[in-house]
Amino acid sequence: MNEKSVEKVVIIGSGPAGWSAAIYAARAALNPLVFEGALTAENQDAGTLPMGQLTTTTEVENYPGFPSGDLRAYLKSALAEERLWALPSDDLDGDPPRIVSGAALVELMRRQAENFGARVVSEDVTDVDLSVRPFTLVDSSGVTTRAETVIVATGASTRWLGLASEERFKNNGVSACAVCDGASPRFRDQPIVVVGGGDVAVEDAEYLSKFASKVYIVHRRDELRAAKILVERIKRNPKVEFVWNSVVADVLGDDAAGVQGVLVADASDPSGARRQIAASGLFVAIGRRPNVGFLKGALELTSEGVIKRPIPFSSATSVPGVFVAGDVCDARYRQAIVASSSGACAALDAERFLLENPIERR
Ligand code: NAP
Repeated sequence: MNEKSVEKVVIIGSGPAGWSAAIYAARAALNPLVFEGALTAENQDAGTLPMGQLTTTTEVENYPGFPSGDLRAYLKSALAEERLWALPSDDLDGDPPRIVSGAALVELMRRQAENFGARVVSEDVTDVDLSVRPFTLVDSSGVTTRAETVIVATGASTRWLGLASEERFKNNGVSACAVCDGASPRFRDQPIVVVGGGDVAVEDAEYLSKFASKVYIVHRRDELRAAKILVERIKRNPKVEFVWNSVVADVLGDDAAGVQGVLVADASDPSGARRQIAASGLFVAIGRRPNVGFLKGALELTSEGVIKRPIPFSSATSVPGVFVAGDVCDARYRQAIVASSSGACAALDAERFLLENPIERR
C-alpha cells in the first residue's frame, strides 16, 4: 500500500460538528481532509448546501463566547475576502453592537480549522465502501479517496410537507430557508405563511416579519414547541398571527406568479373544510431529516433514522474506525453547541483508534 494515498482522517460535513472535528484532528497532527459539500442547485433544493443548517439561522444568541459586540470588524479581519459573500449583509453593514449570525459563526469555525491545516474539498461524498479498512469514498467529481478513519458529520436537512403543490412552487414562493430567501422582493410588504411550531418556525417568522406585511404561523397544535424566550417574543410581534390546530392542505398559485395563497385545514380533519390565506410565500419549518442517504446502509441507524452509536458516550458507529458527530446522530438535542462538542469527541475517538489500530504498511 502506498502510504501517501491513504488519509488518516476524512471528515464528511461542514457544520459545527465537522469543523470542530477538523480543528481537533488538525491539532492532533492528523492532517484531516474535509469534504464540505458542493454548492449546487440540487443541494440548495435538498437543503444540503455546504456549511450546514446553522447558516440558515439569523441570530445565534446561545453559543457561548459570542455575546453582543462589534463582530463586524472581527469578521472582516478573520475571514478571507472571498468568503465574505456568504454572510448576511447585516453582518457587514449593520450597526454594531450585534449578535453573531449562524453563517458568520460557521465561517469562523471553517477558518479556524483551516488555520490549523485542515484541507477542504468542495464536493459531496456520493458513495462509500466501509466494509474494509482503509475505507473508500467516492466524491461528486468522481475522485476516490481512501481513509484510515472517517468522521460522518453530514447533519440534517429540510423535512418537506410532501404536497405536490409544495414541490411545484419550490423557488417560486415555497422555501425552507427564511434567511436565504426572506429578503427577496416577492415577499416584501406581502403576507407570508410559516408552517411549524418549533424554534426554526418561530425564528423564521420573527425574521420574515421584518419584510412581510403579515406573517401567519400555521401550527398543528395550539401550543408552540419552541423555546419559551422565543415564544414570548413572537407573541408580542404585532405582525404575527397564529393559525392554531391547522395544517397546510394545499399551496395555491400559478407558474407565472408563483405562490398566491395557502389552503389550511383543521388538523383533526385535514380533508374537511378549508380556509384560504392570501400569501406570496410559504416557509416550511417542520423539522429536519438526517443526511444518511449517501451511506446506502453502510452504517446502522436507530429507529429514529439517525446513525446509531452502539457504545454509550462514544462517537463510534457500527463500523470500527467510522465515527459520527452532530445532528446526523442526534435525534434529541440538535443544537450547534452540542454538535460542536460531539465533533471534538469524534476527532479524539478517531485519534485514539488510529493509535490502537494501525494499518500495516508495506
Ligand atoms: P422541531 O423542534 O422538531 O419542530 C418541528 C415543528 O414542526 C414542531 O412544532 C412540529 O409539531 C411541526 N411538525 C412536524 N411535522 C409536521 C408536519 N408534517 N406537519 C405540520 N407540522 C409538523 O424542528 P425545528 O424547529 O426545525 O428545530 C430543529 C432543532 O434545532 C430543535 O432541536 C431546535 O431546538 C433546534 N434549533 C435551536 C435554535 C436555537 O437554540 N436558537 C434555533 C433553531 C433550531 P409538534 O410540535 O406538534 O410536534
